[in-house]
Amino acid sequence: MDPARMPPEIWEALCRRCGKCCAEKVEMDGVIYVTKKFCRFLDRGTKTCTVYPQRFRAEPDCASTAQGLPMMIFPADCPYTKGIEGYIPPRETWDDPAVDDFIREVLGEEAV
Ligand code: SF4
Ligand code: SF4
Repeated sequence: MDPARMPPEIWEALCRRCGKCCAEKVEMDGVIYVTKKFCRFLDRGTKTCTVYPQRFRAEPDCASTAQGLPMMIFPADCPYTKGIEGYIPPRETWDDPAVDDFIREVLGEEAV
């Protein structure tokens, strides 16, 4: 999908408002892992951003789709990843205590 070919409102409407991309990620040995720590601006009930119009100012780490898709930080079921050749989504599950330890070290206990 190419946002340059789409009216912005159509592009925006593709979002399912799942909030999954607002979880912190960590990278370990070249693999990106999705943690259980969410951005402070995400409303966990509605799964929407509470500062959406000014999100990039409010949270400098917030990535637009243009920034985040090449970084492959959007989940596999995110509509924006559809059809992107070679897209490797971040890992959402694992069974490796070393990863948990690393996440704890980087983001704290709440992220595991
Ligand atoms: S992961 Fe995709 S569908 Fe879910 S909130 Fe983020 S952009 Fe929208
Ligand atoms: S600022 Fe960005 S990362 Fe944080 S909740 Fe809003 S859209 Fe998600």
